[in-house]
Amino acid sequence: MKKIAVVGAGLAGSEAAWVLAEKYGLEVILFEMKRQTPTPAQSEPHNFAELVCSNSLKSKSRLNPAGLLKTEMRALGSLTMSAAAQSEVPAGEALAVDRELFSGFVTRTLQNHPKIKVVEGCVRSVVEVFGYGVEKIIIATGPLTASELADDLRLQTGSESLYFYDAIAPIIDGDSIDHSVAFFANRKTKTAARDAQLKVAQQGLAEDGTEQGHYLNIPLNREEYFNFVEAVKQGEKVPFHDFEEPRFFNGCQPVEVLAESGPMTLAFGPMKPIGLDDPRTGRRPFAAVQLRREKLGDNSYNMVGFQTRLKWPEQKKIFKLLPALANAEFHRMGSMHRNTYLVAPRLIHAGDLSLKFNKNVWLAGQISGVEGYVESAATGLLIGHIVGHSLTRSAQLELPPVDTALGCLVAHLRDSDPARYCPMNIHWGLFSAPSDEDLSKSETLYPELQNPKSRKKLDKGLKRSILADRSERLFTDWLRRTEL
Ligand SMILES: Cc1cc2nc3c(=O)[nH]c(=O)nc-3n(C[C@H](O)[C@H](O)[C@H](O)COP(=O)(O)OP(=O)(O)OC[C@H]3O[C@@H](n4cnc5c(N)ncnc54)[C@H](O)[C@@H]3O)c2cc1C
Repeated sequence: MKKIAVVGAGLAGSEAAWVLAEKYGLEVILFEMKRQTPTPAQSEPHNFAELVCSNSLKSKSRLNPAGLLKTEMRALGSLTMSAAAQSEVPAGEALAVDRELFSGFVTRTLQNHPKIKVVEGCVRSVVEVFGYGVEKIIIATGPLTASELADDLRLQTGSESLYFYDAIAPIIDGDSIDHSVAFFANRKTKTAARDAQLKVAQQGLAEDGTEQGHYLNIPLNREEYFNFVEAVKQGEKVPFHDFEEPRFFNGCQPVEVLAESGPMTLAFGPMKPIGLDDPRTGRRPFAAVQLRREKLGDNSYNMVGFQTRLKWPEQKKIFKLLPALANAEFHRMGSMHRNTYLVAPRLIHAGDLSLKFNKNVWLAGQISGVEGYVESAATGLLIGHIVGHSLTRSAQLELPPVDTALGCLVAHLRDSDPARYCPMNIHWGLFSAPSDEDLSKSETLYPELQNPKSRKKLDKGLKRSILADRSERLFTDWLRRTEL
């Protein structure tokens, strides 16, 4: 009988172990260290799939990417979704759970499964796990992976591929930015190029902004700048955990640390206006915030250099003070916390997501570079299917299409720019905009699409409905094709 090892019984590891044993009938050895050496974020009774902080598994709505992701997980036989159904507590649109009931259900289910053997203790290396006679290994040791194993992974993959900390800046929906204020331009262009940019910008913004430069810039005058700095200083911050020593790399300081270090620090740092002329005035603003496209052809923007530990409601309030962002919609908020993760796009095979250094080893969950309970569980479930499928069926599992929720996570792991890779939760910015074909397919459901004006400038709610419809269609077709 083929044996598989899953290292880490968190959200991702629990899903992977379950699907391998239950759906594919494979023998699983599940390694977990928390009863012997818990991480500082974990607490008694040291159950599997522990929710270490909030008890929310995000939105239930199909018009929210986290809602779509959960539906896909249910269709794939997710253990955490069954646990959530058993332990749900009322929370409006969100799926919230009783933490102990949730993780207790997962723990009992896995411990009582005849095909799963639990080994308690800290895994130190990949070689050690192969010593148990397993054919394949799934590493799902999460953001607080034990340091010995992290060292081994660093050795196998190269030091530049393993990070211990992540600094995440907010991502904004491009449709919610006021483009009469923000302007496209690249900083530090030579004078002539800058003049050319200015000319184009004054003649109106191009659809994709490429002619004017790659960055979308928000100009601030003196008063706006100092008000903003003051608000950042006053804003409430997330306190550090005991295990999170606040040490920041140069160039990666949180925006509030910069604001507190001096009134002009931000204006000389991430908000420096050099090389940026505001097309409305033809002059350099007092300061500027730069927004960078998340990926080519995409309409979501990252606030460059705005990693922060401001609390999420504070971020929304304070960043909306910026000109052009009064109505901003955030796909993701900023954060900074200890987080061990590998740069997956550099390290994994495109076809089956196995690691290049050993095609019998996979990453799943937060260590692979997704962020969040649901996203971690979802990747564990998918990797479980990939591995189970490879051992029990003749062909390699076709990966979910890119514009399904799972497919968006796969694209993030596989296709992101390695130089800017950091853990990502699921959000609309990961889905591609609806194509003409998608819009035509949706005309019967949404007759307003027959009007060229509404078709050109899609209403936000309508756009999300179309993306959700497409995602569901693609996922159903994929399920049928793969016979999962
Ligand atoms: C402090 C903190 C708070 C968070 N709060 C939230 C939140 O509120 N909402 C949210 O959506 N996400 C949150 N996250 C993010 C994250 O998505 C969760 O941490 C999620 O649990 C990750 O799932 P995982 O399966 O990848 O890892 P985990 O759930 O952490 O599971 C990994 C497991 O591997 C075990 N392990 C580690 N190393 C070894 C080893 N060498 N040998 C054997 N076992 C090992 C650990 O004990 C653990 O049980 C938080 C993260 C942290 C660090």
